[in-house]
Amino acid sequence: MKITIIGTGYVGLVTGACLAEVGHDVFCLDVDQRKIAILNSGGIPIHEPGLDEVVARNVAAGRLRFSTDVEASVAHGDVQFIAVGTPPDEDGSADLQYVVAAARNIGKYMTSFKVVVDKSTVPVGTADRVSAAIAEELKSRQSALDFAVTSNPEFLKEGAAVADFMKPDRLVIGHANDTQGLRAQQIMREVYASFESAGHKIYWMDVRSAEFTKYAANAMLATRISFMNELANLADKVGVDIDAVRQGIGSDPRIGPGFLMAGCGYGGSCFPKDVQALVKTSQEYDYELKILRAVEEVNENQKHVLGSKIFAKYGKNLQGLKFALWGLAFKPDTDDMRAASSRVLIQELLRAGAHIVAFDPVATEEAQRVLALDFADAPVLLNQIHFARDAQTALSDADALVIVTEWKIFRSAELETIKSTLKHPVIFDGRNLFDPRTVKSLGMEYYPIGRAVLS
Ligand code: NAD
Repeated sequence: MKITIIGTGYVGLVTGACLAEVGHDVFCLDVDQRKIAILNSGGIPIHEPGLDEVVARNVAAGRLRFSTDVEASVAHGDVQFIAVGTPPDEDGSADLQYVVAAARNIGKYMTSFKVVVDKSTVPVGTADRVSAAIAEELKSRQSALDFAVTSNPEFLKEGAAVADFMKPDRLVIGHANDTQGLRAQQIMREVYASFESAGHKIYWMDVRSAEFTKYAANAMLATRISFMNELANLADKVGVDIDAVRQGIGSDPRIGPGFLMAGCGYGGSCFPKDVQALVKTSQEYDYELKILRAVEEVNENQKHVLGSKIFAKYGKNLQGLKFALWGLAFKPDTDDMRAASSRVLIQELLRAGAHIVAFDPVATEEAQRVLALDFADAPVLLNQIHFARDAQTALSDADALVIVTEWKIFRSAELETIKSTLKHPVIFDGRNLFDPRTVKSLGMEYYPIGRAVLS
């Protein structure tokens, strides 16, 4: 099938590469010339394990190409996936300007029936807005061409995006039940035929329910994290090990083990903005989502939990102190810094006068870019942060190690080496990477999340 992907970011590039991998003829469009130039010169603009191989293989096979040519992109695909960003607007609602712009382009240039697929995470009712934008463009051209808008939200995780896309837990596709909607359903079935025949279930539903399903999934995952973080904070006060509790409850099949790790808050491009957007949707319908408001508030507080532990130990003035910071990305295996907890911590530490030597396996460049924006009001503070070339160098001469992202290499680090390289043997661990008893037995001070009783 001929498929166009509009927006070649984390989701669009993975979707395009993986749909080419199963044999489709894919055209990826982006307005960002830099991204397209990198891709056309054989590079990958993001860090995503395994993606480079899939892209290279399919470009070589002639099934995958990249361009900024809007007209050619509309002409190419019988199916047009919209995978552009939907960042939070100032009021927390999803900013749909990129989605609507993509829809307008389709309406402007289409010359045959198109199935338009909302792949971006978009609020309930967005398919109607996409339809209206296309219809308006068609009307201004006095064209009576048919099209159908479907919703096919994406559930991949950054860091495991290729594997998630190729072996999805489920596919959700929303379509209308009218003639064009049913025609679109048939075409979408062909798009995902190889997935369905490999046993990956497709849940067919109406468009609005599909749009809502994506928000419900992210809201549920965010809720589990904030729930555990709140309990972890209480666990520290009442003398309970939250990790033992996690295991104790996660073994109950009604609860399940996933997304129960306490830590220094969730970040990324999805959970924070999707929780906010769902809250905003509820307000538009004059209904209050009390649980999700709390989830968001708990998470914002949790991003300060490491800072609070550091201030509790050293006082509010951190001048003269140097912290080794392990992990900048919002989670491992990605260079994505959107809403990363590290950004909140860095603000707190630098503004309190501390020095930081940070290390992240892949996110350093992106971190430097976002920190320049975060500190636009006080760029001089950025003289207090440096970036090490490896994890051990960051430790050298530091008063304490602070762990923000659970990269595997940090988990397997030798505690003896950490101890001997730091100036003082102190670890603030925002991801509970180590067994507190082991750290303690080595004569180190350890501040994990919700495990104070053991440390
Ligand atoms: P991204 O910012 O990485 O990529 C979006 C891309 O769209 C950018 O490269 C941008 O230049 C391009 N773009 C914007 N307007 C365009 C236009 N009119 N025509 C062509 N290209 C255009 O964003 P992302 O992380 O890939 O997220 C995309 C959507 O998918 C969002 O709605 C997000 O919530 C959702 N989503 C993201 C993830 C994730 O893990 N990143 C997972 C599931 C769903």
